[in-house]
Amino acid sequence: MKTGIIGIGLIGASLAHDLMAAGGHEVHVHDSNADHLAIARDLNIGHVWHDDLPGMAAACDLVFVCVPVRAIGMVVWAAAKHMKPGAILTDVGSVKGPVIEAARGAGLPSHISFVPGHPAAGLEYSGPASGIPGLFAGKAWVLTPDARTDAAAVQTVHDLIACVTGARMLTLDAATHDRIFAYTSHMAHVLAFAAMNATPQVSRNAGENILPYAGTSYRDLTRVANADAIMWRDIFLTNAKAIDESLDLYLAEIKKLRAMIDAKDEAGLMAYIASSTALRADMDKTVGGPGPSVPTPPPGAAS
Ligand code: NAP
Repeated sequence: MKTGIIGIGLIGASLAHDLMAAGGHEVHVHDSNADHLAIARDLNIGHVWHDDLPGMAAACDLVFVCVPVRAIGMVVWAAAKHMKPGAILTDVGSVKGPVIEAARGAGLPSHISFVPGHPAAGLEYSGPASGIPGLFAGKAWVLTPDARTDAAAVQTVHDLIACVTGARMLTLDAATHDRIFAYTSHMAHVLAFAAMNATPQVSRNAGENILPYAGTSYRDLTRVANADAIMWRDIFLTNAKAIDESLDLYLAEIKKLRAMIDAKDEAGLMAYIASSTALRADMDKTVGGPGPSVPTPPPGAAS
């Protein structure tokens, strides 16, 4: 099978590694960043490297679109018109409703199918050298088809991803996906970016640079502050409404906690923390373990 990847960054390269390890795929790669395409070629990520999108799209039976969220709609449309009848496009964008709208709004040809998806797996790195084999194993990979999505294409994408990556395949409608991930992923980045940006003021107040004193908990909280700016700008701008709703919930909880601290409400604080501990234990049981505490060096990084 000729399988394409457009955007050979963290997600695209990780997927390419898995496709190559699985066998049975001739992996075609395109990236608009010539340096990234050259790195992918140098590192043997993929089998065929294309400078041009139309040539790559025409060659493939199924293509994964792994570019930043606001570029997906246009890339899907640009690839679709060159693909063979019956070919399938799927994406990995972290926001689904606006991506589906953008792809369809651009006018998808009827001879191809588009199956929207999102792997709930990632790291705070970008670019082809950060690709990690096995990144998706055991993680959720959410497909968000609707009444207009071809059912046979959904099944093909579902089976291929499950078989190649070992991801746990889930299905949601796009709006529910965007609300859930605003809370479980996007909000964590809002907090990490805000926490880091507050540190210069805290240092000024303390009369001392506070960074050398950063403890494990602060490093845990801010691990993802190192993430790619284009990717997160796009996610914040395309999922703004759901992120706003999540922010309201967070702020309400922080106000509650602050009120208990100010009122020296010992019993209230004990109950609040116990409830959080139980919920965190439930989450660990569901998704397996506490997750990385410190940045994970990407493959190839000096140790
Ligand atoms: P990344 O490492 O920055 O890789 C994206 C690649 O696509 C880059 O090489 C980029 O080049 C290239 N690109 C940008 N626009 C393009 C276009 N129009 N045509 C072809 N190539 C293009 O990003 P990533 O972390 O892999 O994220 C890719 C997608 O996966 C995003 O939609 C993101 O929401 C989703 N996702 C990410 C994670 C995560 O944790 N990273 C997790 C789940 C899903 P430039 O660098 O020059 O722009």
